[in-house]
Amino acid sequence: DVRVRFCPSPTGLPHVGLIRTVLYNWAYARHNGGKLIFRIEDTDAARDSEESYLQLLEALTWLQIDWDEGVEVGGPHAPYRQSERHEIYREVLGKLIATGAVYESYSTAEEIDARNEANGRAKQLGYDNYDRHLTDEQKAAFRAEGREPAWRLRVPDEDLTYVDLIRGEVTFPAGSFPDFVLVRAGGVPLYPFVNPVDDALMGITHVIRGEDLMPSTARQLALYSALIDASITTFVPRFGHMPLVLGETGNKKLSKRDPKADLFLQREKGFIHEGLLNYLALLGWSIASDRDVFTLDELIAAFDIADVNPNPARFDQKKAEAINGDHIRMLQPADFAERIVPYLASAGLVAESPTPEQKTLIAASAPLVQERVQLLGEVPGLLGFLFTDSITYAEDALKSLPENAAEVAVASVSALELIPESEFTAASVQAALAGALVEGLGLKPRVAYGPLRVALTGRRVSPPLFESMELLGKGETLRRLAAFVD
Ligand code: GLU
Repeated sequence: DVRVRFCPSPTGLPHVGLIRTVLYNWAYARHNGGKLIFRIEDTDAARDSEESYLQLLEALTWLQIDWDEGVEVGGPHAPYRQSERHEIYREVLGKLIATGAVYESYSTAEEIDARNEANGRAKQLGYDNYDRHLTDEQKAAFRAEGREPAWRLRVPDEDLTYVDLIRGEVTFPAGSFPDFVLVRAGGVPLYPFVNPVDDALMGITHVIRGEDLMPSTARQLALYSALIDASITTFVPRFGHMPLVLGETGNKKLSKRDPKADLFLQREKGFIHEGLLNYLALLGWSIASDRDVFTLDELIAAFDIADVNPNPARFDQKKAEAINGDHIRMLQPADFAERIVPYLASAGLVAESPTPEQKTLIAASAPLVQERVQLLGEVPGLLGFLFTDSITYAEDALKSLPENAAEVAVASVSALELIPESEFTAASVQAALAGALVEGLGLKPRVAYGPLRVALTGRRVSPPLFESMELLGKGETLRRLAAFVD
């Protein structure tokens, strides 16, 4: 059975690269009827934070990505926070000591550098496996000095080969890296140790992660041999390395600090989770050559890790927004109306839990914009004029006004006044204005209606004009037109 994992370190804000990682793992688990395990890799006390952990939870909740075992939900391999698993790591280390897979190492960084220099060995090669050969007397002498050992894995002197799920056969030649530290002097277990140990203990079958972690895979393969020898596990998981995500220009990785990488900022701009996940899925995968838009169910039905493209993917904000717009149009109108509430509220247009009148107006006006926005964040700007009685005229809107703008407004007032209040609908408004402005004044519709749009909404771009007037009502429409003429 497929068992995959999402194992972030809780540092910083959730970014889109991290979300693509969990998305692929989730889709793979769901496609195969497998399990997604959510483990927290908080072994770096200096960098990890509870706040970052809570933000991860909030992100996954918003995205509606669920997991089967792990933090918050528990499971047979609890605890799922590495900071609570130190006892387990000590035990595993003990077994590796017993099989001779690891050894005590006392070399300090300075001693390693000094030896490399004396031996004409390049500094970048790092540790020289010197402590493999310490005698019992030498070890005793170090301990007598009060030194504590780190524990290093004895890396076999042979090529390491595996078949990557995305890249095919990969070989790390013998000697590519030295014996590495699993547990620091003082007992702190490190990522190269705890990550594969937990994968092994939790029965992970497929490790799906970013290409930047390939160097770790070499070390982890070496460690897996030792774990199997020590009967800690029976198999090596399959590994698949997803392509890098590049920024919009150049050939650099999308930085975690790029605002476009910030999940919450993208949410604030008005991505809905369906749209954002659809776009992130496309960073290395496609459902068909002629199709970009799909639902999460369609993603799950079609997703296979073997179809992921190893070539770098470029983050494209415009394309992401276009896809989001398509998903916005797929929402049920009532659902859309709900989802715009937080955006209207944070723009100060409605209460966080809107009043009944506000709810009615939201429901009535939402259809006017659902067809035309790509981001929910565009909605307050478009609908704001309905939720206030003091509009301001945007500068570009005023500049766009023709000379006869006042005349148009005056003629409109006369025509609209004749409509009874109970019949003040988009259709009757349209008929009245067409008669007064297009026929009466001989204006082209575009010229005739532009000034009215500015008068009523303060902007050049707005929802459809006649529907907007209907929503404002006769009294408010006439009031705004009169104020505009002044
Ligand atoms: N905690 C590691 C990270 O966030 C996990 C890497 C992995 O997937 O193995 O980079």
